[in-house]
Amino acid sequence: MCGIVGYIGKQQAAPILLEGLTKLEYRGYDSAGIAVYHDGALEVAKAKGRLEVLSEKTDGGKKLVGTMGIGHTRWATHGEPSDVNSHPHLSMSGRFAVVHNGIIENYISLKKKLTDKGFEFISETDTEVIAHLFEYYYKGDIMDAMIKVINRVEGSYALGVLCSDYPDQFIAVRKASPMIVGLGEGENFIASDVTAILKYTRDIYYLEDNEIVVLKKDGVQIFNSDKEEIKKEKFTVDWDVSAAEKGGYEHFMMKEMEEQPKALRDTISPRIKDGKIVLDDISLTTEDIKNINKIHIVACGSAYHVGVVGKYVIEKMCRIPVEVQVASEFRYSDPIIKKNDLVIVISQSGETADTLAALKEAKNHGARILSIVNVVGSAIANASDDVIYTWAGPEIAVATTKAYSTQLAVIYLIATYMAEKLGMLTSGEYANLIAEIESLPDKVAKILEAKEDVQYLASKFYNCHSIFFIGRNLDYAVSMEGSLKLKEISYIHSEAYAAGELKHGTISLIEDGTLVVALATGQDLFDKTVSNIKEVKARGAVVMGVTTEAHSDMETVADYTVKIPTTNEMLLPSLTVVPLQLFGYYVASLKGCDIDKPRNLAKSVTVE
Ligand code: GLU
Repeated sequence: MCGIVGYIGKQQAAPILLEGLTKLEYRGYDSAGIAVYHDGALEVAKAKGRLEVLSEKTDGGKKLVGTMGIGHTRWATHGEPSDVNSHPHLSMSGRFAVVHNGIIENYISLKKKLTDKGFEFISETDTEVIAHLFEYYYKGDIMDAMIKVINRVEGSYALGVLCSDYPDQFIAVRKASPMIVGLGEGENFIASDVTAILKYTRDIYYLEDNEIVVLKKDGVQIFNSDKEEIKKEKFTVDWDVSAAEKGGYEHFMMKEMEEQPKALRDTISPRIKDGKIVLDDISLTTEDIKNINKIHIVACGSAYHVGVVGKYVIEKMCRIPVEVQVASEFRYSDPIIKKNDLVIVISQSGETADTLAALKEAKNHGARILSIVNVVGSAIANASDDVIYTWAGPEIAVATTKAYSTQLAVIYLIATYMAEKLGMLTSGEYANLIAEIESLPDKVAKILEAKEDVQYLASKFYNCHSIFFIGRNLDYAVSMEGSLKLKEISYIHSEAYAAGELKHGTISLIEDGTLVVALATGQDLFDKTVSNIKEVKARGAVVMGVTTEAHSDMETVADYTVKIPTTNEMLLPSLTVVPLQLFGYYVASLKGCDIDKPRNLAKSVTVE
């Protein structure tokens, strides 16, 4: 995880680095640091805790003089969050300063070797070996040292490296951790994510694994590990800087929930032309679709929950068997992948380490990969046979909302597209589904307009110790997301249960006053879930029912009812999830939690 920024130009570097890091704090926020070159030496400032601590310590960066520097906001993997473990790490002589995102998997053997050679380590991090390795390999040419270092280390890294012998350039590289290069006028940048530098430039280079960048004030050169220069295509970011700012909202999460109608429209509209779903982005032919033997959906966290919806929807609409697995399990499960199996991987950032590794595992087994990703040019997008981008724009809050919603929309587009190609839909059903998919943004907007109703419910329950979410089939899939949303930002224990399964054990946890959020949106299973509501109520539970406007019976069984608009049953998860997102948000807000940056979490999970 972690965020990296690097700057070289005419302006004072440290304030620019600190400002860039604020945009990356969602990636890690347990400590931060910066290093700046000045007058033949490297000056470092670092601090445990949020970025404000570092900012105060350095007077917003003003205390560090110099026009070239690197910065880091950390999500600790090796060694606790502390001043000394914070990045940048210096080599023993102080000649090199290094910021690192990722994990050096062979750091123990490297540490031993370097210790035997007399290097002294002061931190518990894996990163410090890199700083010392630079020193060890350096014979007067930083590029030679970089090549030796990347040939020696195993694992994942995005590195920014300053050397006090080089007053007018710094050097960077990435492998399996994100990094982009920003191209300005008389100034250039590196960053883990474009949001950090968008204020200064929209022109960027995406880097491939082990491409080495040399940044000077007036230019950027990229080399491969044979020191051959590579010509890269410049990419211009077309979204606005305000997309990555709070714009008057108290939290990014609320802003992003409110952005869902637009994000859905941006994702859906370009793919519907003349009453047909057009997936220009993918090369799957009708023949390929007819030949699909099985679909595996692989993802982590909320994206996995999208996959659970996807299983129900694709199986029902296309009658193709779908298996959905969390990526960290899939990758080590020696998966059975046969000829004509399709693997769909889902990741907002496109850099989720477990998902990327699962993708590679699936590829090794000969699978065709279709990915659903939000970040253009990300590692997962690059490694896939086909990519369908969600056009959600930057998502900053750690707890996903608009990315989840747009991923779901893409699943609907894929399922409907394939069902039509397979001849599973009449033209009327096809047209109706498309119309309903197109109506989702407005219906989500309508739910958001009534958000105060959910806020009122949150005010009743924010002191709960434990909350259960139940539902059947698609409602169960959404329960999982509702439960995760609540627990990740409000720290209230919560579990999602298939409504019919609760009585096989977990119902023993229901006692007087326990809140059960019961989702019963579909027609066929409504009465079945109502029976389950009665079971928990008989044991003292307080029930918040979530259903559609078509059901008037919920009020008679539940203590509180939340209503969503009606739509095709397959599409209901897009609507059901919204009050649950709002509920999690308001509960966390009433508890005074740090909503955008919940404890122990980070946004892009680039470690195993
Ligand atoms: N492995 C490094 C550390 O623990 C970097 C972690 C990160 O990517 O923030 O310091």
